[in-house]
Amino acid sequence: MTTLTKESGAPTSADAGAFLSVRDLRVQFRTEDGIVKAVDGLSFDLERGRTLGIVGESGSGKSVTNLTILGLHNPQFATIDGEIVLDGQELITARERELEKLRGNKMAMIFQDPLTALSPYYTVGRQLSEPFMKHKGASKKEARDRAIEMLTKVGIPQPKVRFDDYPHQFSGGMRQRAMIAMALMCDPDLLIADEPTTALDVTVQAQILDLLKDLQQEFGSAIVFITHDLGVISKMADDLLVMYAGRAVERGSVKEVLGAPRHPYTWGLLSSMPRLNSDIHQALTPIPGSPPSLLNPPSGCPFHPRCAFRSEVPGTLCTDSRPPLGEGRAAACHLTAEQKQSIFIDKIQPRLR
Ligand code: SF4
Repeated sequence: MTTLTKESGAPTSADAGAFLSVRDLRVQFRTEDGIVKAVDGLSFDLERGRTLGIVGESGSGKSVTNLTILGLHNPQFATIDGEIVLDGQELITARERELEKLRGNKMAMIFQDPLTALSPYYTVGRQLSEPFMKHKGASKKEARDRAIEMLTKVGIPQPKVRFDDYPHQFSGGMRQRAMIAMALMCDPDLLIADEPTTALDVTVQAQILDLLKDLQQEFGSAIVFITHDLGVISKMADDLLVMYAGRAVERGSVKEVLGAPRHPYTWGLLSSMPRLNSDIHQALTPIPGSPPSLLNPPSGCPFHPRCAFRSEVPGTLCTDSRPPLGEGRAAACHLTAEQKQSIFIDKIQPRLR
């Protein structure tokens, strides 16, 4: 399973040797206005055959984390510290040539918008075949056979004919499937899916999610699944990392985090989401305020300006001290469960009535 780890620092003996190990990752961008701390001390592990969901609002650092794993930041603008080890290979210090060998081969990405990954100038078949020839040393015929096999697997009708189509001749759902086929051409051990179904209608979305699960079972890939949709996460992921302002604020198994959230931010995310079994007249409760500026993040707990629990904290812990994320099932909050429960009953619940 995904080994749950401490927020930062060296790996513990329990999590040594994870298939993907991220330790104290820090990603900063130099901008005209100053330094943006996009990821600020993130650690997690992921094993083969498992799916780690990462949720959080825009700007929480989810996508930056994954682009960092793939080595896709421009070193001119980004400073990256920490450790990312994939199957024993350190990626942050790897040369671009080594990363190129890994991308599309050992690790692949499915983007939200297939047009980001598919060029309009080449046929779908060519775009699937070329990386396979490059990474696997396959002949043109072998690559074509493999591409047709993968297009069949992802449910593209008449794959032999569609092999010669250009992306614009595919529907949105078919392009998404073609991109998944492209990502899986070389049997990647690590698949990073960044909002892969957000742009699709619910029926196609459900088909694509089922497809990804089936393919994971077949190939045993590890998947990092990024989304803001907690419904999708509950279907797809084994474990969950909730990110806020570039940091992990809660983690645990999906069942634990969604069933009994411990961080006020996770509660906020859940309360702002419609549920099938909720009363249609019941109002959703959005999280007040907006995500903080990463140029000048708040002191102490980064969630404190939006947190309904903060004023009840004795002293000034919330505003002055950054709460650490403990090991295992954990939330980065200064308050105990009992303290939060009593604040909820005394102060928050009356406002909801
Ligand atoms: Fe809210 Fe304080 Fe907990 Fe941060 S540490 S989530 S501000 S109660």
